[in-house]
Amino acid sequence: MSHTPTLDEIRRAPKVLLHDHLDGGLRTETIVDLARESGYDRLPTTDPGSLREWFHEAADSGSLERYLETFAHTVGVMQTREALVRVAAECAQDLADDGVVYAEVRYAPEQHTGGGLSLEEVVEAVLEGFRLGSQDGRIRVGTLLTAMRHQARSREIAELAVRYRDVGVVGFDIAGAEAGYPPTRHLDAFEYLQRENAHFTIHAGEGFGLPSIWQAIQWCGADRLGHGVRIIDDITAAGGGDVAETAKLGRLAAYVRDKRIPLEMCPTSNLQTGAAASIAEHPIGLLRRLHFRVTVNTDNRLMSDTTLSREFAKLVEAFGYGWDDLQWFTVNAMKSAFIPFDDRLALINGVIKPGFARLKWAVETK
Ligand SMILES: [Zn+2]
Repeated sequence: MSHTPTLDEIRRAPKVLLHDHLDGGLRTETIVDLARESGYDRLPTTDPGSLREWFHEAADSGSLERYLETFAHTVGVMQTREALVRVAAECAQDLADDGVVYAEVRYAPEQHTGGGLSLEEVVEAVLEGFRLGSQDGRIRVGTLLTAMRHQARSREIAELAVRYRDVGVVGFDIAGAEAGYPPTRHLDAFEYLQRENAHFTIHAGEGFGLPSIWQAIQWCGADRLGHGVRIIDDITAAGGGDVAETAKLGRLAAYVRDKRIPLEMCPTSNLQTGAAASIAEHPIGLLRRLHFRVTVNTDNRLMSDTTLSREFAKLVEAFGYGWDDLQWFTVNAMKSAFIPFDDRLALINGVIKPGFARLKWAVETK
């Protein structure tokens, strides 16, 4: 009989994370410390336990204002070099403790200049934090620089990403409200990155529909899609029988699947933003069965009270996934990373496959 992976076992599996926000994963103890050190006095409470509860409730409330307020606090305490180094170092340690062996963590440098840091100083502080947090060799962390889609600094941030490409910045992203701010507003940045042979992903098709995904791929040339859940709108069930067997893909969905464009799916986060009603109804189930290049991610670990292991455990519970499914998602993610091909291959063959094999053997024979 095949064994259902438990949360504890999933934690021991070598995992890969492509979509995680630095300002969405702080420890609440750290938020309280940093607020005290910097004189930030707007926290709803200075008790780390109550603060943790407050973050989860605000993110779960269904109110966009309350959800955004959570980031006002995390970003609010990340305005000095020391704060950024600490947050990045703890991020690397927390991910490694969860069994993540490779991660791409993103943040928007322009949101961390309120205390007088330059964009370069912000980038260098975060890189230093990740260096310190990963020096025990358990995890490798690459960073993605994000530009905010409602701002007009994307070209500048793209140039920053290229300038730091050889020292730990592996790509670029745009994030923020999709409605009213199509990715084509930032074409200049994307065209620049393409000329520079650089990699980028775009938050698209989270709350907003197919046009956003179509623009991200066909106008902007995105290598990956942040979320991309609304690609499901271009898939129709032919009626009767098993949906995965009768599904008809529209031209955009077929293109995304044919070109193996990675989807950075974040199930719990999608429930909080209303992009899916429950894990069991999340499009990830069908998209996995249709063999899209699906990856599993955390988005904002603090707000969503999650870890990559917990996301996998929820999927195991909802869809009955076994070790082969978890390994498939993990290899998908590693193949889709923005580091060089030989590095990805080394992690797949040297760390991921043997790690899963050992784990499967250990749990099946115990
Ligand atoms: Zn995101």
